Amino acid sequence: MTSHAAHKTTVLSAKEAIERESHFVAANYKPLPVLLNRAEGVYAWDIEGNKYLDMMSAYSAVSCGHSHPRIIKVLTEQAKTLAMTSRAYHSNTLGPFMEKLCEVSKMDLALPMNTGAEAVETAIKAARRWGYMVKKIPDNKAEIIVANGNFHGRTTTIVGFSSEAEYKKGFGPFTPGFVSVPFDDIKAIEKAITPNTCAVMFEPIQGEAGIKVPHDGFLAALRKLCTEKKVLMIMDEVQSGLGRTGKMFAWEHENAKPDVIILGKALGGGVLPVSAIAGSKEVMGLFNPGSHGSTFGGNPLACAVGLEALNVLIEEKLVENSATLGKYLLEQMQAIKSPLIRTVRGRGLWIGVDFEPSKVSARTVCEKMMAHGMLSKETHETVVRFAPPLTITKEQIDWALDTFRTVLSELE
Ligand SMILES: *Cc1c(COP(=O)(O)O)cnc(C)c1O
Repeated sequence: MTSHAAHKTTVLSAKEAIERESHFVAANYKPLPVLLNRAEGVYAWDIEGNKYLDMMSAYSAVSCGHSHPRIIKVLTEQAKTLAMTSRAYHSNTLGPFMEKLCEVSKMDLALPMNTGAEAVETAIKAARRWGYMVKKIPDNKAEIIVANGNFHGRTTTIVGFSSEAEYKKGFGPFTPGFVSVPFDDIKAIEKAITPNTCAVMFEPIQGEAGIKVPHDGFLAALRKLCTEKKVLMIMDEVQSGLGRTGKMFAWEHENAKPDVIILGKALGGGVLPVSAIAGSKEVMGLFNPGSHGSTFGGNPLACAVGLEALNVLIEEKLVENSATLGKYLLEQMQAIKSPLIRTVRGRGLWIGVDFEPSKVSARTVCEKMMAHGMLSKETHETVVRFAPPLTITKEQIDWALDTFRTVLSELE
């Protein structure tokens, strides 16, 4: 408990706090004008005590819900016991966490990092090593095929192969070795493959691009093509993975198991940055001491939390809940007749509503929803996402639908 005096000096009003942010924080985001103060499960409260249903889940990082009691228990107990070792020493949390991750992902070996972007970089390094050491691509010639509209994070290498001008402007020169082709176009990928192609790296559903779901059969066809051409299939499931689409991994919808999977966001149980890649021995076995590392990657606190996040997902049947309620939410959303809406798409509890830009901006919709106690965030100018914690109930979904219908009728 903070004393009354401490309380007075540290707690800022929403207006003061937002002003201070804009004064001292580099303006790389444009948040909604709400100051969150507390959260639990699927709900968050602002500093004035207004309650919001979280339909955003911190871009899937909060899939287990805010401050899940089991995860908070593990977090606090591990923090008191052993929080940080670096990989200079062993700890008894890394092995069990990676064992569980390999079991769940049906992979041989895994490697923990912290953020999604670091895990993507790790996958790029793994794929290039495999290209040189196994496929025998000539030195420095390895190519990785990516998709237009991709989002894989914000490092200089990663933004270099983005097709979004605003992600790249002023950040060159960029890393060579990437070829970008249209998303969901198996012919274009086939054409882009050369003897120097080591990998195809894709999001199975493009999240930041606006929850773009490829045609049925695309992932299976990609799996087949990669095997035929001896090219690694890397799935970036940082956002789509761990139940978000109604399967543990989005690749399972078409039984298109990748050679390397990239995970993050929800892996941290909503409390810490925890990411990892997992893959076959043929690829992951190529890392040796000194070839890669991260000071915080695989720290005891992160590993304990990551393991508990996986346990919660499985034992609380959150993946099944995402499938059932996601299907219901999508059907209900698609049944809404509104001149403001162009399309509704998604899979599991991951739905994008694409608005008609001549009629309303996605930002305006988000602001209006906020006024009605429901939080989300636009992606690009036209899409509003609905991605609640996977712990959400049918009653809460129905409340969200009612609220959304009210918002639409007010905007029409
Ligand atoms: C968010 C995201 C990343 C980057 O994760 P960070 O933790 O923000 O670095 C990478 N890939 C996908 C698909 C993402 O959605």
